[in-house]
Amino acid sequence: MGANVHWALVGASTIAEEWMINAIRAQPDGTIKAIVSGDLARARKFAEKHSIPQASADLNEVLADPDIDAVYISSTNDKHLPQVLAAAAAGKHILCEKPLALTTDDAWQMIEACQSHNVVLATNHHLRCAATHRRMRDLIRTGAIGTPLFARVFHAVSLPPHLRGWRIERPEAGGGVVLDISVHDVDTLRFLLDAEPVEVSAMTTSGDLGKKAGLADGVMGIIRFDNGVLAQIHDAFTVPFAPTGLEVHGAEGSLVGRDVMTQRPVGELTLRTSRGEERIEVSHGDLYVTGVAQFHRAVTANETPAASGRDGYLSLAAARALERSDATHSHVTVQSLNLR
Ligand code: NDP
Repeated sequence: MGANVHWALVGASTIAEEWMINAIRAQPDGTIKAIVSGDLARARKFAEKHSIPQASADLNEVLADPDIDAVYISSTNDKHLPQVLAAAAAGKHILCEKPLALTTDDAWQMIEACQSHNVVLATNHHLRCAATHRRMRDLIRTGAIGTPLFARVFHAVSLPPHLRGWRIERPEAGGGVVLDISVHDVDTLRFLLDAEPVEVSAMTTSGDLGKKAGLADGVMGIIRFDNGVLAQIHDAFTVPFAPTGLEVHGAEGSLVGRDVMTQRPVGELTLRTSRGEERIEVSHGDLYVTGVAQFHRAVTANETPAASGRDGYLSLAAARALERSDATHSHVTVQSLNLR
């Protein structure tokens, strides 16, 4: 590999267009060489719009290029497995979108393939790259709130009109709010609490957006972590005016994050203790730029990516447990391999 990390984008997607092309190009050593789409005309249009030199509908052709070091996979969720397996076999490092796969068995297969081909597998859980969440994690670790007891995630949003496609129409593509948003909540909570989900309970709703395809567009859930913390989550595609937030309540203090469950580098943090209320200063930075920078260091300097394949696996395991809980009207144990 040369001094630069040469990327191929797999998926002519909105997330690539809105955030990830910029995140890669913001790196001093990041170059985008190719875009792969299932449709050549779409690939060409996307390449032209974003000044990407090569457009292709043939993933294997692009993977055969020895100059490509890494792929960013942002296709619909059903395509992540075959594309990750192909990229790993070609020896490319992989940043894959969440949910990592449709099932934990598939996610495990992806982890094993990347291990055996000695390539990095990262999951694009951007929220753990937010300065707010990193500050919260530091404060919790240094005892600012004492023993963490409870957490609450407020992540009910309005799905933007241009994203009202497969997420609410195609169960087979991995649609629905749980695989879309709850996986992020789980990953962020795992990151903040340094703990693993062990048991969940959830109820979902299929309102105006999800009803036709029978997909959940809202969920409320409870997650028990292995350190005893109980977390509650509220995610939706149908709520235009609720603020997002994340709170962690400990025996000696509470951390309150407002407007922090978002793609944008914003949000406010407050610490409440017996000393009163303290505004925590945060130095915001683009979450996706931070994540790609860490991925580059994983590729070039053997560091750990912000969220690994293992992290993607574990957030998916909890998300699938939330769905099972809803379907079976029962508390459900999170089925995950012992990946700790
Ligand atoms: P999009 O719907 O924008 O794109 C997904 C796929 O749809 C593309 O790969 C493309 O297929 C196909 N597609 C795009 N435009 C058209 C069109 N006009 N007609 C037909 N097909 C089209 O998805 P998102 O960008 O919203 O999500 C992609 C992935 O990224 C998902 O896994 C999602 O969960 C994840 N995501 C992650 C976020 C994060 O913050 N980490 C945020 C948003 C999404 P093709 O590959 O064939 O070109």
